[in-house]
Amino acid sequence: MAINCITVTPERLLRQDILALHAYHVQPSPGMVKLDAMENPYSLPGNVRNEIALAVANAAINRYPDAAAHDLKEKIKAISGLTAEMDVLLGNGSDEIIQLLAMAVAKPGATLMSVEPSFVMYKMIAAFTGMNYVGVPLTEDFSLDMPAMLEAIKCHQPALIFLAYPNNPTGNLFDAAAIVQLIEAADGLVVVDEAYYAFAGNSFLPQLGRYANLLVMRTFSKLGMAGLRLGFLAGSKLWLEQLEKLRLPYNVGVLTQAVAEILLRHHEILLQQAEQIKRDRSWLFERLVGTPDVRAYPSEANFILFRLPHAAKVFEGLIQRGVLIKKLDGGHPALLDCLRVTVGTPEENELFVRALQESIHQFA
Ligand code: PMP
Repeated sequence: MAINCITVTPERLLRQDILALHAYHVQPSPGMVKLDAMENPYSLPGNVRNEIALAVANAAINRYPDAAAHDLKEKIKAISGLTAEMDVLLGNGSDEIIQLLAMAVAKPGATLMSVEPSFVMYKMIAAFTGMNYVGVPLTEDFSLDMPAMLEAIKCHQPALIFLAYPNNPTGNLFDAAAIVQLIEAADGLVVVDEAYYAFAGNSFLPQLGRYANLLVMRTFSKLGMAGLRLGFLAGSKLWLEQLEKLRLPYNVGVLTQAVAEILLRHHEILLQQAEQIKRDRSWLFERLVGTPDVRAYPSEANFILFRLPHAAKVFEGLIQRGVLIKKLDGGHPALLDCLRVTVGTPEENELFVRALQESIHQFA
């Protein structure tokens, strides 16, 4: 028996709130049509792959990365059209930036606010960092409930508000004027999380200089770099130079920096893929809307939320047919009987639609 195994146990040593948490679940997917995680389904042209192969072969993986990721940051600023007064902070995915922001403001009793349903990591990270969490329910059509939001701001004075724009898992863009009203009403930071910016018709990046408490967060995960883990926070130097203190020095690895620089040099290829995904989103939306008993929600992201009877069984039926999407039913009361499908290639979308129709008939 290991020494001390009776007294030094997780139950005795760890924080009670950590013991009570459920880990973020990722469903295994080998061999499946994978439409669960908002990934870009396309690979890269041969010439870009060759460039990557050469860069990886020559990368100094025996050395620590450039801690400031200078070249990559400059490239990101240039393609995002940021003004000279703005800076960016890089994260190992934008998940890491959410955590860093929460750590920065987590004074005793501080509140992190968001809406529900939304991206679950906001609530989880509030728990990790010991913050109070307030999730204001969206209205029935998933828009912002402004009286409730303004009341929650007044009552809880959140240090940090996250608004996913477009929202995950609902796919919609909240009303921009309503977000401005919240930014003006808040006396904490408002982070507009534009993870799905490449598929959306609006952005808050151009508003950055206008509001002292606004930050905009983006990720390259949905644009075709999910495996690299790279996200960024954009905002004024005043905020970012403080937040930089919390960033672990080498959070963006040598290979991520090298490969992301190449991909951003070929940014137009990724944007064309995003345009294709937007066209296929319309095709998929029409098919869902045309399926009896299915209610599909309009999306400005690379996924579509839909509601149908027996969603949990239909989800299992899809798995039996080799198609993995995301089951939201059971996660939040507002998502009762909801599933979410990521837009794939035209072939994947057709496979999904066929498998969905078969599964629906199976359980009708
Ligand atoms: N924000 C939102 C709204 C998301 O949906 C996601 C991923 N599902 C993220 C942030 C995190 O993305 P990543 O860590 O891959 O950058």
